[in-house]
Amino acid sequence: MSEPQTGQATPAIREADVLIVGGGLSGTLLAMQLLRLPGARRIVLVEPRPELGRGEAYSATELGHTLNGNAARMSIEPDDADDLTRWLQAHLDEGGWPESGTQDVPVSELFPPRGLFGLYTQQRLAQALIIGQANGSSLIHVRDEVIDLQTLQQGVRATLKDGAQWQAAAAVLATGMFPAARTAQRESSGLNAAALDPWNVDALRALPTDARVLIIGSGLTMVDALESLSQAGHRGPIEVYSRHGLLPHVRRQPPAWEDFLSLAPDLRSPLQLLRELRRQCALALEQGIDWQAPLDTVRVHIARLWSQASDAQRRQFVRHVRPWWESHHHRSPPQGNALLERLLKEGRLTVRAASMQGVDSAGLRIRLRYRGQTEAVWVEGDGLINSTGIEYDWRRVDKALPRQLLQRGLIRPGNLGLGIAADAGGAVLNADGEPGQKLFAMGPPLRGMWWESTAVTDVALQAKALANRLAVEF
Ligand SMILES: Cc1cc2nc3c(=O)[nH]c(=O)nc-3n(C[C@H](O)[C@H](O)[C@H](O)COP(=O)(O)OP(=O)(O)OC[C@H]3O[C@@H](n4cnc5c(N)ncnc54)[C@H](O)[C@@H]3O)c2cc1C
Repeated sequence: MSEPQTGQATPAIREADVLIVGGGLSGTLLAMQLLRLPGARRIVLVEPRPELGRGEAYSATELGHTLNGNAARMSIEPDDADDLTRWLQAHLDEGGWPESGTQDVPVSELFPPRGLFGLYTQQRLAQALIIGQANGSSLIHVRDEVIDLQTLQQGVRATLKDGAQWQAAAAVLATGMFPAARTAQRESSGLNAAALDPWNVDALRALPTDARVLIIGSGLTMVDALESLSQAGHRGPIEVYSRHGLLPHVRRQPPAWEDFLSLAPDLRSPLQLLRELRRQCALALEQGIDWQAPLDTVRVHIARLWSQASDAQRRQFVRHVRPWWESHHHRSPPQGNALLERLLKEGRLTVRAASMQGVDSAGLRIRLRYRGQTEAVWVEGDGLINSTGIEYDWRRVDKALPRQLLQRGLIRPGNLGLGIAADAGGAVLNADGEPGQKLFAMGPPLRGMWWESTAVTDVALQAKALANRLAVEF
């Protein structure tokens, strides 16, 4: 499947039917779905990483970096919710993931390490490849980066970093997320120059065990960083700062709750929605039911609500509801949460609402204005971690392909500048707002289109729908 790297000059233009840019979860699931469909197709997946199906999230090597949902919630098969549970059961039966034995819960309720989830995706891809080969389809993994794309009369042409060119009938941007900690261009504060990458386990391990660690950002990325520090034997104080100082709630297994939004189709504005959600949560609590039950019914409505909203309503959501949504909806897996609670209890971890005003990289000092204060103060640490999450605005990402696509007018920013604009079926809109019909996107680049477009379930659904579309059109 993987093709040898030649590194030689100007090879001939090679041809494919579908070229997928990015072989993380999105690109891999798309390839998997395409391979299963009838018809012979040449699929090329360009991904610099050595393994497909992993991307940032599922390349994790720490066992404590787990999925944030249990196996029952994280199937990559949109029509088979038990697929991951069955795969996991078989993996455990073969002696895999022995550490799970300490957890006395059914397999469906286990929160697998993300690295293991990557293996699950890879094995499902390998099975699809056998089906595809029987249909005459092929899949090639080209280990490189696409640095430019042009649309032609007959399709698209991609230029890779090593100079090679591929021509295909259609191309799909499955380029995933651009971590804020690595987007140099937009970074005026100097934070990235001074801070460590939260997913660079080796860099976190290299910190002295008694280091006073400052972390900017208090979401799930911060919980990953705590896990890595803990594994590295860190014993020093950890100070977390974020604008609202909100921590992710822990994910529990709430019971079912009536889908109240399907009964109230007129409920549209973010503030109305929030009011009703709070009312439902209060109702649940009155009945002794977990408040997470009503909240979990909202998920299936998000794409509809966001795509139907006006720009003003979307802005209202981002300004007033987003921090609350992030901490309540993007919840922490139990293992990460237990660590967080232990550190808080021990007094080693403090979390404060503060906005960052500047960085003095020489002395590892950050300038913070605490919430409710007018004066900023300097805070000094021995280590600094940027856990501010993801940069969704492609205009601020210092990478060749986003830059080229914008320059060529092949893409335009999505709603509120989040990701890129596309039609409901994933065809990317050009600078004039016209769907190009040869260039598609899926996953995190469609954040502006659907708001929630990154989780396993979002990506799995999109992969299946897009594969069906591509199979008809190409
Ligand atoms: C740390 C982390 C943990 C997460 N945990 C969960 C979770 O527990 N549950 C959940 O539901 N979701 C989770 N997510 C969200 C979601 O599942 C992932 O973001 C998912 O990996 C998205 O897949 P992707 O392929 O679109 O993006 P990515 O995983 O970012 O992969 C994109 C790939 O594209 C490649 N690429 C980019 N540009 C180019 C180019 N120009 N040429 C060639 N290749 C390129 C990159 O090398 C990368 O491998 C997590 C995300 C992160 C970052």
